[in-house]
Amino acid sequence: MNNRTPHEVAAGVYVATAEKFTTTTTIVAGDDGGCLLIDPAVSVADLAALARWLDERGLRPVAGWSTHPHWDHLLWSAALGNAPRYATPHAVAAAAREEAGLISDVEASSPGHDLAVFARVQPLLGHEIDWLGPRALVYAHDAHAPGHGAVFLPDQGVLIAGDMLSDIEIPLLDLDSADPFGGYRQGLGLLASIPDVRVVVPGHGHAGDETEFRRRIAADLAYLDAVQAGGDIADPRLTEEWLRAEHARHRARATGRW
Ligand SMILES: [Zn+2]
Repeated sequence: MNNRTPHEVAAGVYVATAEKFTTTTTIVAGDDGGCLLIDPAVSVADLAALARWLDERGLRPVAGWSTHPHWDHLLWSAALGNAPRYATPHAVAAAAREEAGLISDVEASSPGHDLAVFARVQPLLGHEIDWLGPRALVYAHDAHAPGHGAVFLPDQGVLIAGDMLSDIEIPLLDLDSADPFGGYRQGLGLLASIPDVRVVVPGHGHAGDETEFRRRIAADLAYLDAVQAGGDIADPRLTEEWLRAEHARHRARATGRW
């Protein structure tokens, strides 16, 4: 089965998973054939397949959402149309500030994207995406990246968590921030406080149910506890070289060596 093909995780909510970094794209069907598109990713071919799938279903993006200002969450293509695309004000500011670096990241990691539509996000004022479809509430925090905005669909109980609550990646701290551990705990606490989460969709990894949502929160807190205490942890998510490198950076930061 091709994972690129979106599958329905709740009524009218579809998740496609790209091969690269197990990156997810979320599609929320709205009224009159409109849809909300969250973090469309990640290769040129993935976006082309997504546009075809939407077309076949008669779905047309009427709003876009970028969960946070990292290159793999700011992608778009002309075939997806020119709907307004939003992010939190802090995320929009960070994307503008770091535009040159983001462009070199996308060119290095996933070349060939149309840069004319890359990172064209505008600030969402308020905490709810204004569109004709299921309610979509934004939960903003500064864990992982400045102005990280998770989206919660209260009617479906679906939390689109961005780069948090992954089953395959350890917590990835924003080491450029003044208080990476405190910021991460704050973000996790905010997500943990959302009532009635029945499905969690991470930016990289696999969707999980309510039990899995709680398990991931506990696993992430246990990770932070161990690293901040200056110890090591045999987290089963430390499977790849780049994750072990991030883990080493976290440990160095916790013990004041970096
Ligand atoms: Zn990220």
